[in-house]
Amino acid sequence: MAGDKSGVVGIMLIETAQRIDTLPEYLFAKLDKIVARKKEQGIDIINLGIGDPDQPTPEHIIEELYKEAKNPANHRYSSSIGILPYRQAVSQWYADRFGVRLDAKTQVASVIGSKEGIFHISWSFLNPGDVVLLCDIHYPVYRIGALMAGAVPYYMPVNERNNYLPDLGSIPADIAKKAKLLFVNYPNNPTGAIAGETFFHELIAFARDNNIIVCHDGAYSEIYFDDYRPPSFLQFPGAKEVGVEFSSVSKAYNMTGWRSGWIAGNAEVVEALTRLKSNIDTGQFQAIQYAAIAGLNTPPAYGQSLRNLYQERRDLVVDGLNRLGWKLEKPKAAFYLWAPVPTGYTALSFSEMVLDKAGVVVTPGTGYGQGGEGFFRISLTTPTNRILEAISRISRNIDKAVF
Ligand SMILES: *Cc1c(COP(=O)(O)O)cnc(C)c1O
Repeated sequence: MAGDKSGVVGIMLIETAQRIDTLPEYLFAKLDKIVARKKEQGIDIINLGIGDPDQPTPEHIIEELYKEAKNPANHRYSSSIGILPYRQAVSQWYADRFGVRLDAKTQVASVIGSKEGIFHISWSFLNPGDVVLLCDIHYPVYRIGALMAGAVPYYMPVNERNNYLPDLGSIPADIAKKAKLLFVNYPNNPTGAIAGETFFHELIAFARDNNIIVCHDGAYSEIYFDDYRPPSFLQFPGAKEVGVEFSSVSKAYNMTGWRSGWIAGNAEVVEALTRLKSNIDTGQFQAIQYAAIAGLNTPPAYGQSLRNLYQERRDLVVDGLNRLGWKLEKPKAAFYLWAPVPTGYTALSFSEMVLDKAGVVVTPGTGYGQGGEGFFRISLTTPTNRILEAISRISRNIDKAVF
């Protein structure tokens, strides 16, 4: 019988779509299996892999959710673009934080976490065969969304030599002409790199010259240290003509689980994404949108205490690794440390060794593209005492690192 591979009469043959078949293998699967096995053996694992804040969502946001969840007006379908008060709050937040003026009605829309919007933007703009420009170290969703739309990534090299900023001038002219979307992210996950004004000016000119839509991912705009303060892509002249910024309340207000973010900028781009989404999700639960408004209106002192916490952890990890032979500089933003693996290791073999010997999970750099070979990432979103314990375990198990 057709499809009967098991001898059981009538069993279905489940065949996935080709676009699922082309999904790259999940790099973390191997590590996940080892972690699960270690936990079964009763070994205490410290996870510095995941970039998900350990601190709770502030109380006033939760109170707002309670209140709005009880209002029957919020129990019905919402709309994908988001309630106007939410879009107005995002617009006001941009005005206060960056001096950026946005029309809440046309230049801002809700997304169900910026990850969702980032994935779907490719579906709104990329035809099969279209070129998408990505850094060769990148947040994986840019690549997967584009691949699912049938597009072809062109990887712009980023590394220590170019301060993890792509050299737009070195992109071949025919590639630049064919490219339709470009994704960048500063402050950057996973490298912690930041971009200065010059880069943004060049980016906007490049996009205009080549008719490319810029998608800037601003997820870490509120996680910054020392005397640094990240700009928004949208504050630079011409940005709203050539692109959009995605961001969310996730990292700034410890709300990753709430799934509330936005796309802001060019009205035609915002409209195209919203049109697609209106056929998919019918909007985020309105009570969550009201809670996100409360998040955006959080007094600034909260952000400062959060930054102080991450900065303290950053210093502990950098100083700890530097005592072991690394020569890391302290990143100015985001809550990650991006570090080279010692001589003799690959990104994956180093991560496996640290897990095996020290019971500490770090992420192999290759999880973010081939440009991440030779590096690993540590996330600072674990309680400070656990981070300290992880560093001391690593130092007990690793001889002085050589590079
Ligand atoms: C965390 C993260 C996001 C997604 O956050 P959401 O919770 O989906 O808003 C987007 N981009 C980068 C680079 C991130 O690290």
